[in-house]
Amino acid sequence: MNLNTIVEVKRPGSVEEVDWRDGHAWLAGGTWLFSEPQIATDTLVDLERLGWPALTATPAGLEIAATCRIVELHDFEGPPEWRAVPLFRQCIDAFLMSFKIWNAATVGGNLCMSLPAGAMISLTAALEGVCTLWPRGGEPRNVPVVDFVTGNHRNVLQKGELLRSIHLPASALARRTAMRQVSLTHLGRSAALIIATVGADGTDFLLTISAATPRPVHLRFAKTPSAVELCEAIDERLPADAWFEDVHGSAPYKRHVTRYLAEQIRAELA
Ligand SMILES: Cc1cc2nc3c(=O)[nH]c(=O)nc-3n(C[C@H](O)[C@H](O)[C@H](O)COP(=O)(O)OP(=O)(O)OC[C@H]3O[C@@H](n4cnc5c(N)ncnc54)[C@H](O)[C@@H]3O)c2cc1C
Repeated sequence: MNLNTIVEVKRPGSVEEVDWRDGHAWLAGGTWLFSEPQIATDTLVDLERLGWPALTATPAGLEIAATCRIVELHDFEGPPEWRAVPLFRQCIDAFLMSFKIWNAATVGGNLCMSLPAGAMISLTAALEGVCTLWPRGGEPRNVPVVDFVTGNHRNVLQKGELLRSIHLPASALARRTAMRQVSLTHLGRSAALIIATVGADGTDFLLTISAATPRPVHLRFAKTPSAVELCEAIDERLPADAWFEDVHGSAPYKRHVTRYLAEQIRAELA
């Protein structure tokens, strides 16, 4: 849609050129920004000309630029020891997307939207991603993805702060993974997106619950838990009021499908 409050679009070649003030908004793929009126915004600051390489693989892991497009992440082929790479496509397929969103939306934009059904949040939280944030006029800081999102459409970004990249450590990329997703309607927004990862020897089992809760939740076990242990841990960590209730599913429904799907992926990885 036309944003009739916008009077200027800046296309800086470096972040230092930006003199941030109220009314500015970072523009990534624009798929959300251009989907509804932005009454409080008069200036868009386009991130595209910053020219950050989309994906940088090193022995330490994978650096995903905030400006990496969903389609670029989808096409990534990792080294064979990164057994978790197929999870990229599984999560991307869970993302309710038109052709336009597929080609324009960015990984960083998805994190910064901080919606419960943000499939890139689910993916990068499950793979123990760490965000690098560039505050205005301060030193860069690192925040784990699981702590970056603090609620529905809420995160730790301060005014004008920029998400620069997400680092996925090689240790997490080498783990075995299993994922399940469910929506109330065919191709609907996720009601639950559940991922588990585990070390090759069955130790260090990490369950990531997302979409069913306002923010991603980690449950960590020294080794793959039993069905009962897993169910008890979910109930202990997530009381009745901890589930995200919206038109895509009631809280009791989301609790039910989370427990059901978590058991499926536990059994798959056991
Ligand atoms: C039809 C439709 C369906 C959608 N379905 C889903 C869905 O299922 N799940 C979901 O999560 N979202 C969904 N969205 C919302 C949105 O399209 C996605 O979240 C998308 O990934 C946003 O990425 P973008 O690059 O287009 O962000 P933009 O629209 O460019 O920006 C989104 C917000 O993040 C800020 N921002 C962007 N990049 C940065 C950065 N690097 N640092 C700081 N702030 C930044 C912007 O200022 C803006 O506030 C949907 C949107 C539409 C229109």
